[in-house]
Amino acid sequence: MSSAAVLVALALAAMASEPDPPPRQNVVVFLVDTLRADAVGCLAPDKGKSATPTIDRLSADGALFTRCSSQAPWTKVSVPSILTSLYPTTNGVVSVLAKLPDSATTIAEAFRSAGYRTAAFFTNPFLGNATNLRQGFDTVYEAKDLLGDRKGPRSNSGTSALVNQKALPWIDVVAHGTDRRPFFLLLHSMDPHEEYCPAPPWDALFADPARASAWHGQWARLKSLDEHPAINRRSRADFARLGIDADAFAATGRGLYQGCVAFDDHEIGRVMDRLKDSGLLDNTIVVVTSDHGEEFLEHGYTSHGHSLYDEMIHVPLVIRAPGAASRRIDLRVASLDIMPTLLDLTNVPYPTGLQGTSLAPLVLGTANSGFVERPVWSEMYTEDPVGGIAFARIDATWKAIFQVKPWRELPRPEFELFATATDPNDRDDVSTKNPDVMKAAKKEILQRYAFLPRLPGVDTSLTLDADTLDRLKALGYLK
Ligand SMILES: [Zn+2]
Repeated sequence: MSSAAVLVALALAAMASEPDPPPRQNVVVFLVDTLRADAVGCLAPDKGKSATPTIDRLSADGALFTRCSSQAPWTKVSVPSILTSLYPTTNGVVSVLAKLPDSATTIAEAFRSAGYRTAAFFTNPFLGNATNLRQGFDTVYEAKDLLGDRKGPRSNSGTSALVNQKALPWIDVVAHGTDRRPFFLLLHSMDPHEEYCPAPPWDALFADPARASAWHGQWARLKSLDEHPAINRRSRADFARLGIDADAFAATGRGLYQGCVAFDDHEIGRVMDRLKDSGLLDNTIVVVTSDHGEEFLEHGYTSHGHSLYDEMIHVPLVIRAPGAASRRIDLRVASLDIMPTLLDLTNVPYPTGLQGTSLAPLVLGTANSGFVERPVWSEMYTEDPVGGIAFARIDATWKAIFQVKPWRELPRPEFELFATATDPNDRDDVSTKNPDVMKAAKKEILQRYAFLPRLPGVDTSLTLDADTLDRLKALGYLK
């Protein structure tokens, strides 16, 4: 044998003995609409009865981020930020009619380009085509596909079960089919979104079910106050006018809401069981998060979409990666960090220009000390004709909220400042005691929004199809 032939033979032998590369990891994201952080047992300050044993178990097996802020207080604006790792101002989705421009690269497009199969199950009519969020998904189920004729606030409770009617068979096909591509699966559910109608026995877990019917009657009366534009929020003044005890209403509402959270958690558990039983779980990264929270009169209103306070933008974030140890991470992170984190964990190339930061070193415990905490931002563009624009800047010391355009219907101070370490729920505005901090934050906020890049191709002139309009009206987002 010539020396060249020997080399070839040795090379072939080395190749033959090399083990197969490990299969690329799958990714499942549970995106639970309207899930405030303290509704999740492992993040609840009082540590009473947990509504979320499944999420608690996931967090015990993975990374629990205790300080994650969403980039907006409502679905339409928040979810595109999660899917693009771009702030709303940059990706252009800031109003009911806005669509994500084709020039954006979504997380689904990044995964698909890397050879993943991609699927989304969306139960909110804002998601999918209405916002041009189908980009990159091979398979998309939208609200109209999953909910059928169910429309209106009462149809939100139980949507996780409707998702699972279609998602569990999808997982079965992936598990038992011949296509060996890894997958990226996004499961969105609406259970905790108004009007909180948990089915038995979930209705009795955190509320007295005997009160539910009277509560829904009060909700209907509050809704009927017709001087309000679209959105479901109601103020303490509205309660006073109708002679409804606001705090009792909020307490019962919160209990029913927790029942809906518990049901959603139960359905997440069914997906986890299916992943485990089909042998997929050991090679699957699992994420649980939300698009925004919900207010129960903490700052004078109900519902969501109208402020940037903690109950509205503090969301759960759990990332369970196979082989990674359990860890609790108190650093401040953002929903738009999810995309670079998942791409990093799966070695999928990043698109350029992402505004989030990979949390993979924190999830894997490889560089705890190397992660630099940076300010996190949230943006509120409101759709009402009288709506305003506000931005929040949050860091380890301060949370600054600046009403760049005041909201006439919902008067708020132009500027508020909260000490994040001692006042995490934004109760005590200390702006007048810290005029220099206020001045610097105002300047930084205005400069940032003047110079933040904008994606090309944003078009807000497009209209929604009739079915989507109908669903949004039924949910109270449009009149
Ligand atoms: Zn939402």
